[in-house]
Amino acid sequence: MATLSPQLKQATPVVATRGEGVWLYDEAGQAHLDFTAGIGVTSTGHCHPHVVAAAQAQVGSLIHGQYTTIMHQPLLTLTERLSDVLPAGLDSVFFSNSGSEAAEAALRLARQATGRPNIVVFQGGFHGRTVAAASMTTSGTKFRAGFSPLMSGVVVAPFPNPSHYREYGWDAEQATDFALKELDLLLQTQSNPADTAAFLVEPVLGEGGYVPGNERFFAGLRERADRHGILVIIDEVQTGFGRTGKFWGHDHFVSADSPRLPDIMMFAKGIASGFPISGIAASAELMGKAWPGSQGGTYGANAVACAAAVATLEVIADEGLVQNSAVRGEQLRAGLRQIAVEANTRAKAARIAEVRGLGLMVGNEFRDADGAPDPATATAVQQEAARRGLLLLICGSWGEVVRFIPALVVSESEVDRALTLWSEAVAAVV
Ligand code: PLP
Repeated sequence: MATLSPQLKQATPVVATRGEGVWLYDEAGQAHLDFTAGIGVTSTGHCHPHVVAAAQAQVGSLIHGQYTTIMHQPLLTLTERLSDVLPAGLDSVFFSNSGSEAAEAALRLARQATGRPNIVVFQGGFHGRTVAAASMTTSGTKFRAGFSPLMSGVVVAPFPNPSHYREYGWDAEQATDFALKELDLLLQTQSNPADTAAFLVEPVLGEGGYVPGNERFFAGLRERADRHGILVIIDEVQTGFGRTGKFWGHDHFVSADSPRLPDIMMFAKGIASGFPISGIAASAELMGKAWPGSQGGTYGANAVACAAAVATLEVIADEGLVQNSAVRGEQLRAGLRQIAVEANTRAKAARIAEVRGLGLMVGNEFRDADGAPDPATATAVQQEAARRGLLLLICGSWGEVVRFIPALVVSESEVDRALTLWSEAVAAVV
């Protein structure tokens, strides 16, 4: 009798039998409000009828047709539909199955296209769990510990994350000054630009604690990249497809002065409502520099996943989900901030030090009474919420952030319900 590996240990005892919208139902028929969305994947809600119909129809006609042998219509349609939403100039796409594979594909392309070995990553970034992706990940030692040696050629620069410098009282401006200054020093002292293939960065740190970047930081990256012939890889795996209230997370940080950001963009998660598909986008010229045969994979661009992705893009457009993400995100942050004020007043300390995020990517950062990151309280409140029927996830460098990442179809009353359950859970602990 096989048993689950300890790595598959679940955070809650819920065994889901059915999902609908933002709700999961367990074996006893109990409803759970799912503000995890399978780690930001099921953006159209669980089992959206349009996505289900598209996947069912595809299963009945062609499940798998490997693109090196035979092309299939869902792949062609998906490529065509993506061109409506991809940033200008990124007109060539390559598909794989997971965010980690997209990170590997971006890394391979950047190294092959530039002939340079180094990748500069940013403190608190998460790019996946394969060895190369983990080597480029700095959001927590648990993602890297115990399987060294990791890939060489990775250099870590600061991300403008004021919460990492909370004891200095820095705001985003000061954290940005520091990050750009350190980046210049790093290019001077550790990673010669002539050896630097790419900057790899998330628009909003995900696993690293739901910390948005900012316009000046990204303009600074772009300027340095252009000056030195370095590529910019933007990891939109968690932030893409409306999650942040704009179609791409980095849309928040481009300006009229600096409208172009990624040379290579990674995407996954929200693209296909739960079917495994990911990819990278770049200009056709850049993509053409990947060495023949170096990018690929048996299951990439699976026909059912492509059909589900096409249907997902249709739902995102038809139901105005990007706009809903922005509006419901405002509602969620306002409610969470009110609950934080009440908790902090009760505790006479900033136990919820910050509520932050963009769109429906929202984090609550817990600190102890002395101001230190407080993963124990974050976990205790998360578990209290789960007992009340609200499913949430943890993130942050110390595990000190509870994150809210519901499906983008979430309604006003469902956000209100989550706020009520969260308020009760916080009051039970803080
Ligand atoms: N990049 C980011 C920003 C992510 O959030 C994740 C997963 O959470 C990944 C990459 C890796 O994706 P996957 O778990 O599908 O390999």
